[in-house]
Amino acid sequence: MSRPELRVDTERFRSNIRAVRDRIAPSALMIVLKDDAYGHGLRWAVEAARGMGVDWYGAYDVRSGVEARRVLGDAGRIFAWATSTDDEVDEALRARIDLGVGSAEYLSRITALAARRGVRARIHLKIDTGLHRNGLLPAEWERTIAEVRAGEAAEHLELVGIWSHLAEASDDEDDEAQTLFLDAVRVAEQSGATPEALHLTASAASWWRPELRGSVSRIGAFCYGVRSADGPDLAGVAPVAELTATVVDIVDGDAVVGIGAFDGIPSTLAGARVGTPAGARELLRIDAATSVVEGWPGMRIGDSVWMFGAGDHGESSATTLAERIDTVGEEILTRLTARIRRVSTP
Ligand SMILES: *Cc1c(COP(=O)(O)O)cnc(C)c1O
Repeated sequence: MSRPELRVDTERFRSNIRAVRDRIAPSALMIVLKDDAYGHGLRWAVEAARGMGVDWYGAYDVRSGVEARRVLGDAGRIFAWATSTDDEVDEALRARIDLGVGSAEYLSRITALAARRGVRARIHLKIDTGLHRNGLLPAEWERTIAEVRAGEAAEHLELVGIWSHLAEASDDEDDEAQTLFLDAVRVAEQSGATPEALHLTASAASWWRPELRGSVSRIGAFCYGVRSADGPDLAGVAPVAELTATVVDIVDGDAVVGIGAFDGIPSTLAGARVGTPAGARELLRIDAATSVVEGWPGMRIGDSVWMFGAGDHGESSATTLAERIDTVGEEILTRLTARIRRVSTP
């Protein structure tokens, strides 16, 4: 039985990046790479983005940052924001990865490790602007900035950036978060610091709320063509990945395809529209290793079915599938298992 394939269209990825960059300029794009580039493949994403001169890479953890560094060589700036062990911080310093710092404890470990190595750690200090998911509290900000300045004077640290993350639950909350963020930037600047990278927004806020953008915007979903759940289509942005499976049997006029719940397809997606050589058909059932799709005239074993994609064969997008089960497109993409072969166009 042929394996299902996740096909990633590199030209579409490039044109999404182009559309995102045009939209957010002069804010610089930091392309977010977490979860193996949202299931598309980190190496592929970094190579394609590097080819377009993307300067900033958001790696989440040090391990992915190191992988990105292998592809990038000396080029590019890599930002890893997961609080990491001493060994990982050591690796990050060697690979010249910028570290996101959201606690005083992490700051002092990084400072000590940089001092031991005789290098300057490049850090982006995170202010908690209301999400309560890692980040320094406004009450401890001034004290922490003073520590950072001391670390800079001792040549163990370089404050490259200040950042936070938005809830994107309501405009009012995001506005309040920005006020706290700008207060934090002001305190840093009054201390004489000159962080070049100020970043607050991810895909949705970067696209829709220009007034919230900093000098850098951290964007994952929209670059991969994953729109927000319950959000509109975006001009110039289309899904990069399509998931195909093969018809392996025909039963009672319906097509049995070789992909199922064990491959990461939620069984609750029954009823969704998938693509076939004859256009949209209903996905009738998802079993463990196979699924059943409403038949079409002339169907044959070996035909392709598009489980999701850009709609070229009548299939839904990953986000449209996700909306059926109250989740986000990223989740459909990132839960696909290793049995699914990843292929990319040049
Ligand atoms: C995932 C993530 C992003 C990117 O979010 P998208 O909505 O996919 O653009 C940005 N910043 C942080 C901290 C994240 O965890």
